[in-house]
Amino acid sequence: MQKPNKRLENQTCIVTGASSGIGEAVAKALGTEGANIVVNYHSGKEEAEEVADWIEKNSTCGKAITFKCDVSKENEVQDMFAKTISHFGTVDVCVANAGIQIDHALHEMPLEAWQKVIDVNLTGQFLCARESIREFLKRGMRKEVSKSLGKIIHMSSVHEIIPWAGHSNYAASKGALIMLMQSICQEYGPKKIRCNNIAPGAIKTEINKDVWSTKEGREGMLGLIPYKRIGVPEDIGSVASWLASDESEYINGTTIFVDGGMTCYPGFTVNG
Ligand code: NAD
Repeated sequence: MQKPNKRLENQTCIVTGASSGIGEAVAKALGTEGANIVVNYHSGKEEAEEVADWIEKNSTCGKAITFKCDVSKENEVQDMFAKTISHFGTVDVCVANAGIQIDHALHEMPLEAWQKVIDVNLTGQFLCARESIREFLKRGMRKEVSKSLGKIIHMSSVHEIIPWAGHSNYAASKGALIMLMQSICQEYGPKKIRCNNIAPGAIKTEINKDVWSTKEGREGMLGLIPYKRIGVPEDIGSVASWLASDESEYINGTTIFVDGGMTCYPGFTVNG
């Protein structure tokens, strides 16, 4: 756990999919920075409440609430923002983290599996970004808490640039996040809204448990990571809290890869 700090004091952050894995670690890391946190969950009510309790106990000054919402549903995302604003006053940071995988060979992929992944991983990101931008523009600058009008962080993946056979719906959803994020940067940078992607590599969570829970799976993963360590959610939490803070103020419209070097094509190490 990172040391308690106050880089996000008096700011409010929504973290989607925060009842588990990377979202949980991000919510805790931002909470540790003194922010108020909305712990969004889809199915894990009890887990979300545990995350919120943890934040209230460990934060220097931040408060936390939970909110159930399916990020792919427009009215539910709007309700989450309305609740956040009525409870905490505004939204300063949105970490759109929720994401799913439904894997099939492309020629066997049912339309529902394609659509569901696009709905959660891409439309969900659009809806959260749109509601964030609406609130940032309406609320105006709060110079006392941040140099930026607001910050949006999309949880992408190394698969925003690495093709992934058998996972084309997931890779397509993450690839699209580059253009969503960069278009937001171009459109709203002049208003001092910052928008960036975090692209995790292999991080030990539920989403890939079937791989890291076997010896062969772990070895296969390590073969793709030059740094020879499988990531943990806290690796992403610490980057997210920095990226949400003014320490990274001049970073806008880019992807931060947090992957132990996975995007350096380790398969070429001995095949030059
Ligand atoms: P995870 O399964 O623990 O987390 C995903 C979270 O999203 C869960 O809490 C789940 O309940 C929530 N969720 C699913 N559908 C939702 C919906 N419709 N509305 C709201 N919440 C919903 O897995 P994770 O690894 O922590 O994944 C978090 C993000 O990180 C995802 O976007 C994933 O694509 C991305 N990512 C993970 C890895 C990795 O190796 N673990 C690598 C790259 C990117």
